[in-house]
Amino acid sequence: MEQGTRNIVVAGKSGAGKQPRIDVLTATYGLRQLSTGNIFREYLGAFRKVGEGLDVARFRRGDGFAPDEEIRAALAPACARAGVAPDAAVLGLKAARYVDGGRFVPDDITNALFASAFRAAAGRGLVLDGYPRTPEQSEFLLDLVRETGSRLDLVLLVDNEDEAIVARTIGRRICPNKDCGKVFHLEFKPPRDGKYCTACGSEVILRSDDTEEKIRTRLAEFQAKALPAIRRLTRAGIPQVVVPGNLPVFSDEAVRESVLGAVRPVLGG
Ligand SMILES: [Zn+2]
Repeated sequence: MEQGTRNIVVAGKSGAGKQPRIDVLTATYGLRQLSTGNIFREYLGAFRKVGEGLDVARFRRGDGFAPDEEIRAALAPACARAGVAPDAAVLGLKAARYVDGGRFVPDDITNALFASAFRAAAGRGLVLDGYPRTPEQSEFLLDLVRETGSRLDLVLLVDNEDEAIVARTIGRRICPNKDCGKVFHLEFKPPRDGKYCTACGSEVILRSDDTEEKIRTRLAEFQAKALPAIRRLTRAGIPQVVVPGNLPVFSDEAVRESVLGAVRPVLGG
């Protein structure tokens, strides 16, 4: 049944319910999830291990950076001591410049990090999550797939109405206790007395990313960039299937049936 390496892109608005669908795909097809969030954490982590006390500004050249060889040479001794791959530290340093400043990471940096992680996973089937998010990233991905002799089997789009996402997200509350972190919803999974974690008793909070204003900004971003990114893949002939983010009954089995019913006609099996 399994022929070659499967790579699947899972797309959808932030809060549409991608993760349960990704879980079905990784479990059913033996794939590994490759999330941009995790990629950034990994490379930033590599840099932080070796970059302490380093004057990062000396590697800046206007809007860009000094040549990679120069940065690599400066980081090499610390990398050798810490057992960190110098290339990963160089990429992490570049990403840190934007992430630490709370600024939008330019496509070329995101692409470089993604390509490095994608190549490192060569030959393993992947579920791409959070990438591509702009049409330029889609172009880059199509080239990378061609260049590495890999392929994209399909795009799974988890579709959810904006208003359903807003309602679900602003009702979300999390336990701020680092050892607990339980997630609640004021309507669907209420905390005790509407306020307290049922596991540890801490007063639950609204995540700073879950305000209505921030949610609507993310939804607009999806419309402006991520949707055209998906269309670019479709134009390149990658099949697209759409699954509903809202199910009449939300159970593991219902999610599984919904996802597999949609992807099997394309993937077989
Ligand atoms: Zn708790």
